[in-house]
Amino acid sequence: MENSLAERDKLVVWHPYTPQKYAPDPIPVIKGEGVYLVDANGNSYIDAISSWWVNLHGHAHPYIADKIYEQAKTLEQVIFAGFTHEPAVQLAERLLRILPGNFSKVFYSDNGSTAVEVAIKMAIQYWWNMGAEYKLQDSGYGMLDGKRRNKILALKNSYHGDTFGAMSVSDRGIFTLAFQDKLFEVIFIDPTNLHDIILNFSKGVTHYMPAGQEGSSPACRTGRLTIHPDEIACFIYEPLLQGAGGMKMIEAGPLNQLLNTLQEYGIICIADEVMTGFGRTGRLFASAYLPCQPDIICLSKGLTGGYMALGVTACSKKIHDAFVSDDRLKTFFHGHSYTANPLACTAGLASLDLLQQQDCLENIERINQQHQQFLIQLQTTNHKLQTKHYRCLGTILAFEIQTEGKDDYLNNISAAITQKALAKGVFIRPLGNTVYIMPPYCITKTQLQKVYDVIIEILNEI
Ligand SMILES: *Cc1c(COP(=O)(O)O)cnc(C)c1O
Repeated sequence: MENSLAERDKLVVWHPYTPQKYAPDPIPVIKGEGVYLVDANGNSYIDAISSWWVNLHGHAHPYIADKIYEQAKTLEQVIFAGFTHEPAVQLAERLLRILPGNFSKVFYSDNGSTAVEVAIKMAIQYWWNMGAEYKLQDSGYGMLDGKRRNKILALKNSYHGDTFGAMSVSDRGIFTLAFQDKLFEVIFIDPTNLHDIILNFSKGVTHYMPAGQEGSSPACRTGRLTIHPDEIACFIYEPLLQGAGGMKMIEAGPLNQLLNTLQEYGIICIADEVMTGFGRTGRLFASAYLPCQPDIICLSKGLTGGYMALGVTACSKKIHDAFVSDDRLKTFFHGHSYTANPLACTAGLASLDLLQQQDCLENIERINQQHQQFLIQLQTTNHKLQTKHYRCLGTILAFEIQTEGKDDYLNNISAAITQKALAKGVFIRPLGNTVYIMPPYCITKTQLQKVYDVIIEILNEI
């Protein structure tokens, strides 16, 4: 007899974020339909986390599928240096119209991590390009004792991706443990203590890492390090919601004040909206909740509605201007083979069409209302498993389960909940003991209620 797909898979495939011993067999999915994933045995599962946060309008949506098909018959790919095409230009035009703040250029890449890499490289090279100019003019701004600005500020508990640059600006934790000594130095500040940092900002920012998690530089190895504002090139942050770090909320007021302060010192603010973009948080972009706008924004995940891999890094005119020069050395030497792939850009345009329809915006609002109701129910009824830290932003709901283990990603309860939920027809994948729901916007009231019911059942069963 022929091997099953799961058996063939086990022989040849290595899956992401999956222990290679004792992992349950992967589920062979044969099709997707709206909010459902259907497996080879005919079971269907509500995809309550949008297939790792990418899907917006449901699986195999005929509108997006048709657009990709038509584009594939016309132009599937072309080198993006020296060439252009309608889907790339149109997507950039439409994004620039809806992005919060004043962005002037769109740089394409392949995924969220590369969108972050591009943003960091842009910010660092901005100061390099400026430094070269200022050295000529013998002016001090952008230079400190002859050194250019090159320090990076990031938030504790952040996650920005899995490539080396993206890992470096992500908080040090179990995902980065094996690479600690290969990651570049970043100054981490505590998102729950922004008030103090803002108050004392002119005196410098103190970086602190617990023993064993220090960066590689000698100064960093001592654990404490104070950085003068004039040394800081950029600040990268996930606006309002830190996703993979455990769906943690950041207060809008202090974050906005911080952005204001940083920009007063000329520090480039990079909003990583890879997860929060395209309606997830109730607004088109989470940055729209804040009066202070970023200089650079990173997008991916929902950008194509979850159909194709694509990343976008958009920047303000100020950033781009630093690259407009007679000096060829000031070119941004970065690109990927599939930069601005026409199929991916087409999927992005089709997804935007659907996202900007009135009923989609209404669905986002309706999901939020339903989430709020469920959180009240969760808080006011007793279950065998205790729950805590209830929160909700737009279409995202999260809470923690009280366990004996630590509140972190390795908490064993995650796998148990995933298995139990699958058996009941719902796919969720808690981050450790943090349970969250992040459904496609097309999920109906009844389907969402089913997700809640399954969670409640599990809280009473385990
Ligand atoms: C997922 C994510 C990334 C990385 O995106 P990939 O496409 O997985 O490389 C970066 N930043 C944030 C905030 C994310 O949620």
